[in-house]
Amino acid sequence: MLPYSTGDQTLVREINLSTVLRYLHANAPMSRAQLANAIGLNKSTVSSLVEELIERSLIHEIGITNAGTGRPATFLDIDPGAGGIIGVELGVDFVSVILTDFCGKTLWQRLQDADPTEGQEATITQTLHLVDEAITVSREKTTRLLGVGVATPGTVNLDEGVLIFAPNLHWRNVPLRKIYSQHTGLPVLVDNDANAAAVGEHLFGVARQAQNFVFVFAGVGIGGGLFLNGELYRGKSGFAGEIGHSVFMAETFQPPCHCGNRGCWETYANQYSIVERVRARLEVRRSSLIPQMMAESNSPLSFAIITKAADAGDKEARDVLAEAGAAMGMGVANLINILNPEMVVIGGPLSTAGKHILPAIVDCVAKRSLPEIGQQSQVMLSASGANASLIGAVSLVVKATLSRPSSVN
Ligand SMILES: [Zn+2]
Repeated sequence: MLPYSTGDQTLVREINLSTVLRYLHANAPMSRAQLANAIGLNKSTVSSLVEELIERSLIHEIGITNAGTGRPATFLDIDPGAGGIIGVELGVDFVSVILTDFCGKTLWQRLQDADPTEGQEATITQTLHLVDEAITVSREKTTRLLGVGVATPGTVNLDEGVLIFAPNLHWRNVPLRKIYSQHTGLPVLVDNDANAAAVGEHLFGVARQAQNFVFVFAGVGIGGGLFLNGELYRGKSGFAGEIGHSVFMAETFQPPCHCGNRGCWETYANQYSIVERVRARLEVRRSSLIPQMMAESNSPLSFAIITKAADAGDKEARDVLAEAGAAMGMGVANLINILNPEMVVIGGPLSTAGKHILPAIVDCVAKRSLPEIGQQSQVMLSASGANASLIGAVSLVVKATLSRPSSVN
């Protein structure tokens, strides 16, 4: 009798295919011999696995001239043309849809203002129209679509692909996977926006080599993706990482957070708080470019205008962003003390003002974290900036493909 059944052999083959593909994703380009050495399988097994991955168009051969000998050598790399991926981000005041290749390169993207609090159906329909556009574009640019990833604020049931509750959207129990898969006929993966962004940063961004990092997704709220010991930490029910609602100082005179509580970290450092800080300054007639910019663009005070003013050198705007950065730094210092991560990555809409906010965060972390721990952590801006969750949504599909290469034909 054979020691393994056919079922076992199929499973072992799938695990080995995934090991090769994931290793190449993190380390390519590399030769077959380097690959065999690195993952500890014999050369003929690796060659056979590589042939299958090439047949499935997930990897391809590239020629690189060896600098030492001048002879071209054959290396393996991830094939960007393995398939297109659609990412959907449900923001609190916008929706965004992207089409990328298998390497996360943007092929097409649309961002639109939205008001999800006005109605769930209208907002979801808005994204479905954009998804249809992405599918049309993909027919011209890519051979096949691998799936749709959806990033949403709030808590998500991963198995069912259901948004359980998003305080900032006022949405409950929305079967997102069912909605998008019925519309597109494609596999659909759904995750919380900050968790998705953390996966994206690990696959494509500044945290590629990190085994322990925190992704701080900052916009209307502050969400956290805790990537610990090489994987996302989800907690008992999958809801871990709601760092924005950790309580700093609960005083009754403060306006409440969207969650109903008072004194949540995000109320000191989110977009609203920045707008309110500026409003308070302008009320006492400080000299600033902001009123003129509001008049010229005929728009109310917004985070976008404040960022624009800061970029133009406006002192009030810069001071406010530094204040918000210091408030963000307090929470980041707490995370560093608790988790001892290699890095904390800041992304999401607020990172469009990253160059004004980051120095204050770094400064605060240096002052407020325990030196032995703080010195081991880098605070960095996300490689995808404001698009962090959107690339995160794409990366959900990439991650699933890396885990199950034989699902791709
Ligand atoms: Zn809260």
